Parts: sequence; C-alpha cells; structure tokens
Amino acid sequence: MTSQTYDPNNIFAKILKGEIPCHKVYEDDDALAFMDVMPQAEGHLLVVPKVASRNLLDADPAVLAKLYPVVQKLAVAAKEAFDADGVLVSQFNEAAAGQTVFHLHVHIIPRKESAPLRPHSGSMEDPAVLARNAERLRAVL
Ligand code: AMP
Repeated sequence: MTSQTYDPNNIFAKILKGEIPCHKVYEDDDALAFMDVMPQAEGHLLVVPKVASRNLLDADPAVLAKLYPVVQKLAVAAKEAFDADGVLVSQFNEAAAGQTVFHLHVHIIPRKESAPLRPHSGSMEDPAVLARNAERLRAVL
C-alpha cells in the first residue's frame, strides 16, 4: 500500500504553482480548471481546488462546498460548448479506485450518445486541440 500523505510535488500541485503549463479554462480564488491531456472524450477537463488534499477522503468539507458550484458551472459550460447529450462527472479516490494523480480533482467529460468513452489515461491529445477546446469552454463561460 502506498503512503497516504499529500505529496506537494504531485503534478497538479506543480500546475497550481505555475511550474508546469496547462490549458487553463477557469480560475478563481479557490479552484483551477484545465484540459485533461489524455481526454476520454472531446472537451474532457479537470477541476482542482487550490487547497491541498489527496482526494475526497481527506478534503475539508468547506473546500468541497466551494468546489462543487465550480464543477456545476463548468459541467453546464462543457455541455453547451461541445454540444453534448450529457456530462459525466467523476472523481477517483486512491489507486484501487483508479486515482493516478494524488491532488483532489473532478473530471468533467462531455458525452455524446454516438461517441464511446475512450480509456482512462489513454493517449495524449494534440496540444493544439487542447488549446482550441479550452478556448471553446472559455467562450461560453
Ligand atoms: P485520476 O485517475 O482521476 O487521478 O486522473 C488523473 C487525470 O489527470 C488523467 O485523466 C490524466 O489524463 C490527467 N493528467 C495527467 N497529467 C496531466 C497534466 N499534466 N495535465 C492535465 N491532465 C493531466
């Protein structure tokens, strides 16, 4: 079993510190949203709270209370921006449940009836496509 402490050098912590780039969609005092680099469908984005926690299990409920209105706002925007039929909102807790990056994050995945979900952590998207999709989201926010 891995140690279940927060690693301040995880990749999303580095994105939050501006140490590595992301295709930013939205930011406020409490949260940052950016495109998932291995999207499971067109427009797949992630929302992360700025406060550190590994996942839902160790998060402060006050952080969740600020995070989920942002998730809702972005899910509505994603449905519109990508003309989706629905939106999958998912969130994994620990490796056994599929978590690969250990800073709390929520997946927002626009879904079309006609498009099967691609594998989780599948293949890297072209950065130009991610930039264009981030722009589509920002345009409806
Ligand atoms: P999870 O399994 O919920 O921990 O998912 C982590 C997600 O982060 C996966 O969907 C990855 O494709 C995505 N991901 C990993 N590294 C990056 C990165 N540098 N920028 C954006 N998304 C990333």
